Amino acid sequence: MKLLEGKTAVVTGAARGIGKSIALKLAGEGADVAFTDLVYNEHMQNLEKELTAFGVKAKGYASDASKLLDTMTVVDQIVKDFGRIDFLVNNAGITKDTLLMRMSEDQWDAVINVNLKSVFNFTKAVQKTMLNQRSGSIINMSSVVGVSGNAGQSNYSASKAGIIGFTKSVAKEMGSRNIRCNAVAPGFILTEMTDTLPEEVKAGWIEKIPLKRGGTTEDVANVVLFLASDLSSYVSGQVINVCGAMNT
Ligand code: NAD
Repeated sequence: MKLLEGKTAVVTGAARGIGKSIALKLAGEGADVAFTDLVYNEHMQNLEKELTAFGVKAKGYASDASKLLDTMTVVDQIVKDFGRIDFLVNNAGITKDTLLMRMSEDQWDAVINVNLKSVFNFTKAVQKTMLNQRSGSIINMSSVVGVSGNAGQSNYSASKAGIIGFTKSVAKEMGSRNIRCNAVAPGFILTEMTDTLPEEVKAGWIEKIPLKRGGTTEDVANVVLFLASDLSSYVSGQVINVCGAMNT
């Protein structure tokens, strides 16, 4: 018996990177997977094929997670298509790094809207379904820089710290309905997002990590699987760092 059979997961921003690994990990444990990203393209089509190869139902949806109306519409469609939502993984995120002195209002707003407002949007949109089911697990993708801060990332750090406050509040608000809410705080994970960093910056990060390597997307997906499954049935309102001991 797989860990998530008969359950449905929604994963945002899953066309690539950490989100894609999470979708594959959950499907590998038997969950049906609805996933979103900004545009429906060949990456999403390919992921649908990879997911259905596990023998589960899977569908990709184009949706801008930073827009509430878009989110409400796509969640309605997912409920029609899948019938239930057991897990929500709020993974969609962007960076627009620069020193505060140079940061424009647009760079601030974009990062807060995509990273933080999206978590409000999707959590609000799935809430009714989870309340009716009297169960659910919500997993929000924060970051170690949301815990510790980082020069040149004030917008990103603020969005990821905001996610932590939101996570703890939702855990307290919805716990009596058997809905759990946790955050995952990855450290330096090797994805397309971090690929854009100069080699010397990447080497500098890795040097500071006690485990002496960047994390893999699967390192993060494994923790998400734990938080989705009943293995974590008494874990809620927590932030789990996945960072090779960089942040302790
Ligand atoms: P990524 O850039 O590879 O993937 C992010 C995905 O989100 C992309 O497919 C992108 O199209 C999608 N997306 C962006 N804006 C969206 C929107 N408005 N609506 C829907 N989808 C949208 O990034 P990643 O490295 O896989 O990161 C995934 C999550 O993990 C992000 O929230 C990121 O902040 C967080 N994170 C990453 C790292 C890391 O080292 N890579 C570390 C800590 C936290």
